Amino acid sequence: MHLPDLQSVTCGNCGHVFTHMGAMERCPSCGYCSYNVAEFDKQLRPVIESAAYRSQLVDARYPEYVSNFICAGMLAEAAGRQADAGWTYLFAAWVLDGDGKGELARAWHGKAADTFVALLGEGQLFGEQPGPFAGHPGEFEIVVSDCLRQAGRWAEALQVIERGLSRSYEDDIHKRLARQRALIQRRDTGPVPVKLTPTNEYQERPVSIEEIDELIGPAEHGWLAIEARSFREKFKPGDTVIEFCNPRSSWQALAGRAGYQIVRDGKVIATLITAMN
Ligand SMILES: [Zn+2]
Repeated sequence: MHLPDLQSVTCGNCGHVFTHMGAMERCPSCGYCSYNVAEFDKQLRPVIESAAYRSQLVDARYPEYVSNFICAGMLAEAAGRQADAGWTYLFAAWVLDGDGKGELARAWHGKAADTFVALLGEGQLFGEQPGPFAGHPGEFEIVVSDCLRQAGRWAEALQVIERGLSRSYEDDIHKRLARQRALIQRRDTGPVPVKLTPTNEYQERPVSIEEIDELIGPAEHGWLAIEARSFREKFKPGDTVIEFCNPRSSWQALAGRAGYQIVRDGKVIATLITAMN
């Protein structure tokens, strides 16, 4: 029986043909990592051959998937695509956080922040950026301040928050920037608590109400505690609680949401957002 080989892709760097597995790919032959491995700029060959790139590919501290993002980020940086580099580093940090590798996540939040801060420094407004940067004034500053906060760079984060506040008149943007400032005042470098890590798909799983109680426990003060308590009060025996997480594409478009919902008779009666961007 012949199965059509629709999913094979030819590496633009070395010509190796392999099976297309997902969005971010690594050529198993040469190690080229890209969202589009069929295309390659030959000027980037020294980057792929560099010691930093080769050692990242085999660094045992990282899941292979995360190294692919970091290596793609190195290539984007070398190609002058700073925004793309920043986002791939940020994805790497998110996945590392989800895997409980907080220290490595912190380092890559810092690296993402470096590339994003350079973009801010060039006076490039969020709304003028292509792709994921096509958002509201002040939204990019939320992302950058979050990166800086999680890297423990408080003073820089506060500066970016002020910049965001001065650029936006939207209530929602101001609230989200204020939340970043509150976390900074507590010297909180943690991610906003969420257990599912964004993937290519929308995810949902049933959880027990005890998980919500655990969530309230460590967050006795602040916005999450208030939200979680009001969510908890709506729960009645017989209700279903689910955890949900928007796909990675939503997070990339700054519309990422993750949290919990109470479902009664097939209808969502309460939503608790625990992470957003
Ligand atoms: Zn290759």
